[in-house]
Amino acid sequence: MNIMDRIRGGLYGTAVGDALGGTTEFMTRAEIRKKYGRLTEMIGEGVWDLEPGEVTDDTMMSLCVAEGILASPEDPMGAIGERFLDWYRSDPKDIGNIIRRALQRYEGDWLEASFVTNRDLGGFSAGNGSLMRCLPAALIYTDRERMETVTRMQSKMTHWDERCSEACVMYNRMAYRLLQGEELGLVLALETAGTPYAEALGGEPDCGPTGYVVDTFRWVLYILNTTQSFVETVQEAANLGGDTDTIGAIAGGLAGVHYGYGSIPEAYAGKILVKERLDELAERVAAYRREAGDR
Ligand SMILES: [Mg+2]
Repeated sequence: MNIMDRIRGGLYGTAVGDALGGTTEFMTRAEIRKKYGRLTEMIGEGVWDLEPGEVTDDTMMSLCVAEGILASPEDPMGAIGERFLDWYRSDPKDIGNIIRRALQRYEGDWLEASFVTNRDLGGFSAGNGSLMRCLPAALIYTDRERMETVTRMQSKMTHWDERCSEACVMYNRMAYRLLQGEELGLVLALETAGTPYAEALGGEPDCGPTGYVVDTFRWVLYILNTTQSFVETVQEAANLGGDTDTIGAIAGGLAGVHYGYGSIPEAYAGKILVKERLDELAERVAAYRREAGDR
């Protein structure tokens, strides 16, 4: 598999997990079973009344991060932030509470906006909204240190809580290794070793699939560790209940990098409404990496 398959796989994996899980967001596992049996088709609908193949904030904010980095790779905070604000002004259907507050609070300094948001929320800002959009940093930067710095920074722009930036860095270290073709099970074990997340590889998490970043990430790791294909990964997430679209986007992103674009069925990839933007982005990411000295 070449690196382009992995880059495209990561971008499409995020979008497919998002669009499939968007149907079942906020439902319980039992409600999903009752209504759909097992959801396997990309039908839209759900609480956001989606079109089939319509993505939500998870994918749209990932695009903001990706396009912001490519516009200003040396120091992308401003470029990413401009795109966040443009997206916010487009009046998106699905925007998380923490992110909405941070974007409203922004007055020229992202770290201040995020700090004040965290204070306004009484210190409860450890949502999964920065983890869901961080993958592009791992796809774009070949320099590992720079990749980690930008990964953490993009999280801090809206999510002051350290648990968010830590999860983002751990996730993108995994993506960075998978992009090099390392084996999924080993990557999950190595990067979670010595952290509380290692438990998620030992059995089903004892928390709900909520929007709290630690719960979300534990479920993502569990799903990635117990499934054998891209399709199985995103379907597990979509049928889990809770924050299905975000868990699907986060798990789908890594599954896409690992199994590659070729593993994503046309019935999913072909339906994604922003597919032209994803294709163009994949080309630009690959070109940037070539210029930066990747094979
Ligand atoms: Mg969403």
